[in-house]
Amino acid sequence: MEVNTRKALKGTVAALIASATLFGFAGLANAADGQGVEQLKEHGAAQRIAGVYGNATAKNVILFIGDGMGDSEITVARNYLHGVNGSFDGLDKIGQPNLNKGVETGTGQYTTFSLGNNSNDSLMAKDKSGKLTGSKTAGVITPVTDSSASGSGWATGTKTYNNAVDVDVEGNPQLNLIELAKAAGKATGNVTTAEIQDATPAVLESHSSERACYGPQGKWDGTDKNGDGVVDLKDAEAAGIGSCLSNQLKANGGIGSISEQLIDTRADVTIGGGAKYFNQLDQSGKTLWQDAADQGFQTVKSGDVDGFKNLGEANQDKPVLALLGDGNLPTQFNPSVATKQDPAKDANPTECTVNDKWLGKKGASLADFTSKAIDLLQNNKNGKDNGYFLQVEGASIDKQDHNANACGQIGETDDLDKAISAALGKIDLSDTLVIVTADHAHTSQIVESQPIYALSTVLKNRDGSKTTISYGTSEEDLYGNGTDTSNDVEGKADPSKAQGNMSHTGTQLRIAASGPGASRVDGLTDQTDNFYTIGHALGLATDKADQDRLSDGATVTAKDNKNQVFDIAGFNGDAVLRYELKDKDGKVVSASDASTPLSGLRVKTAGTTTLDLSKFITSDAQYTLTVTGQQSGKTVEIKDFAGPNGTEGNGAADVNPNGGAADNGKPVASGKVTAPKQNGVLGKTGATVLGVALLALALVAGGLAIKFAKSRDNA
Ligand code: MG
Ligand code: ZN
Repeated sequence: MEVNTRKALKGTVAALIASATLFGFAGLANAADGQGVEQLKEHGAAQRIAGVYGNATAKNVILFIGDGMGDSEITVARNYLHGVNGSFDGLDKIGQPNLNKGVETGTGQYTTFSLGNNSNDSLMAKDKSGKLTGSKTAGVITPVTDSSASGSGWATGTKTYNNAVDVDVEGNPQLNLIELAKAAGKATGNVTTAEIQDATPAVLESHSSERACYGPQGKWDGTDKNGDGVVDLKDAEAAGIGSCLSNQLKANGGIGSISEQLIDTRADVTIGGGAKYFNQLDQSGKTLWQDAADQGFQTVKSGDVDGFKNLGEANQDKPVLALLGDGNLPTQFNPSVATKQDPAKDANPTECTVNDKWLGKKGASLADFTSKAIDLLQNNKNGKDNGYFLQVEGASIDKQDHNANACGQIGETDDLDKAISAALGKIDLSDTLVIVTADHAHTSQIVESQPIYALSTVLKNRDGSKTTISYGTSEEDLYGNGTDTSNDVEGKADPSKAQGNMSHTGTQLRIAASGPGASRVDGLTDQTDNFYTIGHALGLATDKADQDRLSDGATVTAKDNKNQVFDIAGFNGDAVLRYELKDKDGKVVSASDASTPLSGLRVKTAGTTTLDLSKFITSDAQYTLTVTGQQSGKTVEIKDFAGPNGTEGNGAADVNPNGGAADNGKPVASGKVTAPKQNGVLGKTGATVLGVALLALALVAGGLAIKFAKSRDNA
């Protein structure tokens, strides 16, 4: 009987804890062992410390990502640049409590696995007509991530497949930190040494089934593709759509490529490389550079360092798009060549030399970008009032590790370190959380002596000692060693171009932080926890229900009383909108394509999304328009409004009797979310109350069980 009672109690406690978990108290336990993809694919499901938060909040967050910067890459660079007992000025300061008196700090490690293997095998794989074909390997737990699955994890809190940019394993867009920071009224920035369309910056700009969907013509560089002497839409046609899912493209009713979505996302500050892809052409034949300028962007193009230096403001009226190189930006050091075992390398260890093309020589290093971004964000009104979120990436640690180019990766690590130092010189750690981490580990390993069977480089360290680095994930350097920093072979190896073929590795990574909320990175977390750490520090909507509520105030308003073109605002809990226009007989005359989760209108968060139906609203008769947020499910319906020449007298309902009446007294059609969808019968408050009650019960019951067990042990 005693045993039965205990069992029953244990069962009750387990049930209560399980219930409490549903309401967000999963932090009561470690991540469960052996969870499958069915669980892990859900938003937030891979967190290791779900729901565990301190009280600290930060006004600003700066996230530094060293792409491919595993512990080996940090140590290699420290040995070479500062000696084995030396320290980085910035990188080694973050998370170090003794160097940050009175400042909250944290240091831990995080896991980075993904949910599906590379590119063409993803769930979003498609046939030639663009139809989804599913996959053999997506939805499989994958211990080694790429930068896009990894970035989607830290930027959205959702685990996904390698090659996915802020979409889950089923292709559904997941809201990212820049969208959510904008929804909260904050200023935002995105800085990198890579092409701005590359995975790490892309996860703050876009939702794409394929990371290579750089522009409407894929990776076309905007040159005369058909050789007829002019660059026009015929070249775009010749270039094709590259790796883009065809139905994601605007021409096919989709939300657009990564570059186009960058313009829609409208961060206040965007700095990096990849300028040539903005030479691609939109549907009307305009370059994407022109589109950005038409949308009010201050544009700085490849090589215009003075233009970069002269940038004096950045805000939602005049955002900055500065792309200082055509491809990835040149690294600080000239490449070194990893070779097979050779005693001469020990006799004459490598010393890296400065690359003449490095933009740091002209005052446009990653540290300069970071200083500029912080200045612009601190002077921005939203930044001043509400704070900012800034991401800074040192991209070519990864890219040169792929190339077995030790000097390249070391110089890039040095650039990232100096960017951190530059930030520390401008910010106050009492109100700004700084996080430094990586997105995945990489190949380079520090070994005792040159291996027989792998490529290696021997470096002369600052302190006179030698570091021997093994590059052992590619059999040999098939393509000659890397000198081309514009060629990221990650997941896209093209033997005719690839210069190195080393691969990512899957070890857990260092994460360090200083500033309010920093201790949340302590111990072992997952990459997806980082989304919640940043989101919570900044007060962003991290949980799905909170994100859905961001669309409660959505409105749809005709631009004028012709009622043909509509301004859509307030769908801040959505990335994609669907719409449907019906005529007076209930016949659908225009609707968004619903063929993939990436069709529809791309939401301009905290801005205005335009829906032009002038081709379809042509008669005087009545129309009904519904606009639905694909993520939130919130709907705005405008019923029975009159077309361009209709008036109230012709039977059009006066949907807006007090607003917008113009010359003929006809209303401007408008609508808002009238009955916000509740998440579950209780809504959030109810769920929280029930959750707290259940937690209290669980604790009481748990206490009883422990007491009971104790007395039984004593017995
Ligand atoms: Mg990257
Ligand atoms: Zn890589």
